[in-house]
Amino acid sequence: MKPTPQYPAPQDAQERKAIEPVVCYPIDTLPAFDSSIYAQAKASMALVDSVLVAPRDAETFHVPAGHFFRVTCPEGPQVGDLNLWNAHDFNERFFSGKTRALHGTHVSTGDRLWSNLPHMRPMATITDDTLDWYGWDEFGGSVHDVIGTRCDPYTGVVLSGNEYHYCCHSNLTRALSKSQGISLEEAEPHVHDVLNVFMCTGFMPDTKQYFMKASPVRKGDYLEMFAEIDLLGGLSACPGGDCSAEHTSDAAQCYPLGVEIYKPKDGTLKDWSSPGTNSYSRNHGAS
Ligand SMILES: [Zn+2]
Repeated sequence: MKPTPQYPAPQDAQERKAIEPVVCYPIDTLPAFDSSIYAQAKASMALVDSVLVAPRDAETFHVPAGHFFRVTCPEGPQVGDLNLWNAHDFNERFFSGKTRALHGTHVSTGDRLWSNLPHMRPMATITDDTLDWYGWDEFGGSVHDVIGTRCDPYTGVVLSGNEYHYCCHSNLTRALSKSQGISLEEAEPHVHDVLNVFMCTGFMPDTKQYFMKASPVRKGDYLEMFAEIDLLGGLSACPGGDCSAEHTSDAAQCYPLGVEIYKPKDGTLKDWSSPGTNSYSRNHGAS
């Protein structure tokens, strides 16, 4: 939001404002998404594990590198908050900000989910999205955003003074604590900004504030990803349900979410190799 200007526009204001933008991070130098690399593996893959995430709760799950996983909508419209960690080093985790800078505000098939600095490499590649038909709506909204952070109790206290304990941040903290056998205090700093699976969001035309609207997701929809490295995932079934009205409360109708993990047949990923960590020297100009 911008306040009412306190300074007069300079004479060349229009000229300055008329300059055309350029993309900050053109991605033409990245390896293009090649669906044929994954197609043969997908044709032979078998379900090896599945997890059901209860409403207003979260679960963790493991996905070995070279496996696929789907976040599914098994019952009714429900959005999910997804965290990803390197299964062997929780300091490497999903970097929603850089993923947004590279691929845009909302992701779909062909986009990669990047890890934080100094690791910065693709953790997962989106290989299928049954909501890709949605595109952009008349409000500038779309699905699967990397804009939002995750609903959390701290913002709830700031805005309303009320404590609510089943926000995605808390759900993910409880789930990580339980699955790793660590305290809530140890788990909480590992919870990070999410991929908002199925959530329909955008920016208000006037104030540019983050908006949400009822998700178009329905029973049977899924977002499919390919694990580029060994992953630990965390998925919270948001207390906002389909996020048509409010979150950070028990008001919304909520449904479970599913996670399905698929193993391709050996030898079907010949043209794929797991990416190494970022090769930057980490000199930072010191010598
Ligand atoms: Zn949430």
